[in-house]
Amino acid sequence: MVQIDLPYILDFYPQESEEQTQIHKFFTNLKSGKLTTTKCTKCGTVLWQPRIVCRECLSDELEWIDLPTTGKLYAFTQVNAGAAITLEKDVPFCIGVVELDDVGIKILSRIDNAKYEDLDFDMPVKMKVVENEDGRVMYRFEPVK
Ligand SMILES: [Zn+2]
Repeated sequence: MVQIDLPYILDFYPQESEEQTQIHKFFTNLKSGKLTTTKCTKCGTVLWQPRIVCRECLSDELEWIDLPTTGKLYAFTQVNAGAAITLEKDVPFCIGVVELDDVGIKILSRIDNAKYEDLDFDMPVKMKVVENEDGRVMYRFEPVK
């Protein structure tokens, strides 16, 4: 198999190491199965996606908090064409907006292990962690069976 190094801008997955991003802890936590984000210790705003500065009060005093790994499907569709360059081989696949239980945060995610016809609004879903060949990780959601 030929390994092609993609230019950074064409790489679908974010760089995850401490040298490359100040939210590297998100990926470290994800590797252990935890979905986390940052919360402002000044004004209490829970930020999604995780950030290093609060969008409400501009404080950089943030703490890491755990988020639920379960939720309900708020919206969904099927990707038939035009997928990101590393995902073309997976077409067709489903993506959706998941509203996390308890916190109400909405997360855009790939939806695995279901066909479009199987999906429905408010369907319970749970997070799974997918690891790339190079060790980087990303979350996806799948229906609760
Ligand atoms: Zn704040």
